Amino acid sequence: LAGFDVEGVRRDFPALHQRVNGHPLIWLDNAATTHKPQSVLDATSSYYGRDNSNIHRAAHTLAGRSTELFESGREKVRQFLGAGDAKEIVFVRGTTEAINLVAQSYGKQNIGEGDEIILSVLEHHANIVPWQLLAAQTGAKIRVIPANDRGELLLEEVPGLFNARTKIVSITQVSNALGTINPVEEIIAIAHSHGVPVLVDGAQSTPHIPINVQAMDADFFVFSGHKVFGPTGIGALYGKSHLLEAMPPWQGGGHMIRDVTFEKTVYNNAPEKFEAGTPDIAGVVGLGAAIDYLFSVGIPALAAYEHSLLEYATAALASVPGLRPIGTAHHKASVLGFVIPGIENALIAKHLDQQGIAVRAGHHCAMPALRHFGVETTVRPSLAFYNTFAEVDALVHGLHQIVKR
Ligand code: PMP
Repeated sequence: LAGFDVEGVRRDFPALHQRVNGHPLIWLDNAATTHKPQSVLDATSSYYGRDNSNIHRAAHTLAGRSTELFESGREKVRQFLGAGDAKEIVFVRGTTEAINLVAQSYGKQNIGEGDEIILSVLEHHANIVPWQLLAAQTGAKIRVIPANDRGELLLEEVPGLFNARTKIVSITQVSNALGTINPVEEIIAIAHSHGVPVLVDGAQSTPHIPINVQAMDADFFVFSGHKVFGPTGIGALYGKSHLLEAMPPWQGGGHMIRDVTFEKTVYNNAPEKFEAGTPDIAGVVGLGAAIDYLFSVGIPALAAYEHSLLEYATAALASVPGLRPIGTAHHKASVLGFVIPGIENALIAKHLDQQGIAVRAGHHCAMPALRHFGVETTVRPSLAFYNTFAEVDALVHGLHQIVKR
């Protein structure tokens, strides 16, 4: 794609410039986690090397700096998600913790025996198990949006899943196993016509496409820092103000309170109400630097480049004899799952690793999505904007060699 300087971008990522098993590393495991630009490493290191303090606003100079860095990280996440107010951003460990928070706080408060939770067949286990835990605690039931044989949700089935007992919908925007981009705006509109809020799992959409939670009208939106070129151990929950304010805290401790006696504790407002204890301050600083980096590259530009790479890779993989793609939705991002009947998936990944090519083979924490295709595991190359057409060629070449043997 003319105009996208992928070589310039690659220079910003030190981990991409290493040799693995005698070959230059080709990182195609971006759906699992992404590498970090130097600016993220520098921001984290400079935080610990200079500004390190707990965040108590008025205490002393370093505390002031830390607090400012932490809150400016919150403002960057607000911009990244297109939220209206930084108070709608809660820092958590990642997508998994964010969904557990909503299930245990909003869910426990609003979902009871006989109530219904709508998920889709494409969900990551992180967007299934927390709801099952809630269902076991409350007696609620889970209903599932089905998909077709391309891995696209059956939108026409969605209205029929709603009834007076439906209390929440929780769906992924992009499937981590298939790459399908789900029509979350349409599903949200249907849910809202029934007065039902929607949580959108943005773990696999935030690294690849521009996000605007207000335009999509998500009630909750969650993502992980480590998948958007930031640190592990940090992520965010966006929630509409009126929802967060009405929700009870889910963990108790310091920072989330306004007043404590043994008789009664008065909680802070959101987001502090949900941020008990010392947060991952360095993680927030690193995540803020990752967002700055994405804005400097330009999210629409990287999305367009990556989409052209995905189309190229999809066509190139079709040249591999016997290769069966798993997930062929019209709207996709990043993920190129497949099997080659007769060759074990783990063996394919191992052979590619011998050539420095990192892909994942496994169930990708999305067993129901894969079983929908009659498979237990796939080989899953997954792209990011720092991947190149030459790297895709190397992957396809490696696969041709494996098939020949
Ligand atoms: N949802 C989706 C769609 C994912 O891809 C992932 C990570 N593979 C998760 C949730 C869980 O994210 P994390 O492990 O960062 O909490």
